[in-house]
Amino acid sequence: MNDDARKELTAWLEFYHELGIEGFYRRVPGAVETPPSLEAGRTAQPAVALPSKQTPSAVPPRAASPPALPKSVAPSKPAAPIAPPPAVIRPPVSSFSLFEATPAPRSGPETLEQIRQDLGDCHRCKLAPTRKTIVFGDGNPHAELVFIGEGPGADEDEQGIPFVGRAGKLLNRMMQTVGLKREDVYICNVVKCRPPGNRTPEKDEVDACSPFLYRQIEAIKPRLVCCLGAPAVRTVLGIKEGITKIRGQFYNFGSAKALATVHPAYVLRNPREEKILREDFEKIRDFLKGA
Ligand code: URA
Repeated sequence: MNDDARKELTAWLEFYHELGIEGFYRRVPGAVETPPSLEAGRTAQPAVALPSKQTPSAVPPRAASPPALPKSVAPSKPAAPIAPPPAVIRPPVSSFSLFEATPAPRSGPETLEQIRQDLGDCHRCKLAPTRKTIVFGDGNPHAELVFIGEGPGADEDEQGIPFVGRAGKLLNRMMQTVGLKREDVYICNVVKCRPPGNRTPEKDEVDACSPFLYRQIEAIKPRLVCCLGAPAVRTVLGIKEGITKIRGQFYNFGSAKALATVHPAYVLRNPREEKILREDFEKIRDFLKGA
């Protein structure tokens, strides 16, 4: 090996040593090797299918074509090929930086924790200034059944947990009646902040909040989504008809099903309608049992 080659090799070895790469071996003359393709590694498409941010219709694209990836996980442009370093210790920064490398692709869908983190101290709509607590959702992150209500009331706003007030107690009782446990299901709402005076959430509020709801459903991948009341039906299924007309029926919801029923608060105001809610909860039980 001549002096120049030795210098160049020394520079490479020092460079790798600085990166913590040690233990080189001598290639056997004549051996055929395929080096790992760094370029391929850098430009690989992340194997992540994030949920669509589109408003779902009655048959939302649950497992549809992959939506556009957000910038943070979008494949980056191919990096410049690595040039051998000159006979100085560091290679030129412009040719290669470890910190420009594409992060390792995330595998699998988002988690509820990631979605909660993304929501942050949300001020995306006009409900933020009057809320006490963001009520994100509660329950089993792998639930087969997700209940979707309208929005937090005063008790939920205080405690940060959905359905803990009177309507929640009725929901719990209905679940108990058909042998469901609250800790086995997931419960959330169309909006995560209490509308003043418990009014119905307005369109701009639903528009700002519902993408997070869709992402929650996508993360949980339930077998059944139960919409409690008209705002949930409108938001999740895109159905504008009255709840009493469409309740008790199963709709396709991607590869899952959705069922609409009356809101427990409606039953509190109209106690004679409890049988309707019970009937629909029996359908839920039968569906989950595979009947
Ligand atoms: N009503 C809802 O719709 N959601 C709650 O969390 C509580 C009451």
